[in-house]
Amino acid sequence: MDKNAKAVDESSFQTKVKMCQVIVLFSGYSTKLDETLKANCSCTLIKASRNIIVDTMTAWDRQRIIDALAEHDITADQIDYVVCTHSHADHIGNNNLFLNAEHIIGTCVHRGDEFFERNFENEGYRICPGVRVVATPGHTSDDVTVLVDTTISSKSICFAITGDLFEKEDDILDPSIWKEFGTAELQATQSRMRSDIMHLANFIVPGHGPMFAVTEDLRKIIKSQIIV
Ligand SMILES: [Zn+2]
Repeated sequence: MDKNAKAVDESSFQTKVKMCQVIVLFSGYSTKLDETLKANCSCTLIKASRNIIVDTMTAWDRQRIIDALAEHDITADQIDYVVCTHSHADHIGNNNLFLNAEHIIGTCVHRGDEFFERNFENEGYRICPGVRVVATPGHTSDDVTVLVDTTISSKSICFAITGDLFEKEDDILDPSIWKEFGTAELQATQSRMRSDIMHLANFIVPGHGPMFAVTEDLRKIIKSQIIV
């Protein structure tokens, strides 16, 4: 390798280690109609030293995802990790677009017919510098959240891509939105997880709403909602 090539390699490595970019490709939504629920999940691209997609919407969204990735100069083959925050239908619909990727569905990790044991407790499963997946049960017993630590204007910023741990920002002032599912025990767990994640995060990408900023006021409200 000549000297210039090495210099280029090192500088691109440094950039990759330093910067993780969180790009919400689609903001999720959920609206109750008379007899149906109209819903789709948030779908997020993380550009780090690896390319990661979080939640793959419904099977009907295949072309929309391909087109949205193309806008960021990425093809499905270049995705290294697929993370589904849980295994509900609106979060897993296009996993088979990403056959070069390791798939993390809740806490189940596999590539093809090979399944791997990973630890999602405490610091979680670190998939590349700045990106880790932690267990945040509640909405289901097997939910995970993706935490992305990055730097914006020399400030350390943490993004949490939470799936349905947070349905949308409105569920903070109206907890009946997230309490609709699950047993009393899971709800108690979810209330603790919501507070833990909000304590760590500066921005939350919820399962079915646009990204929102975390404030101290929101942290206090969520803490007061912990079910003991
Ligand atoms: Zn959902």
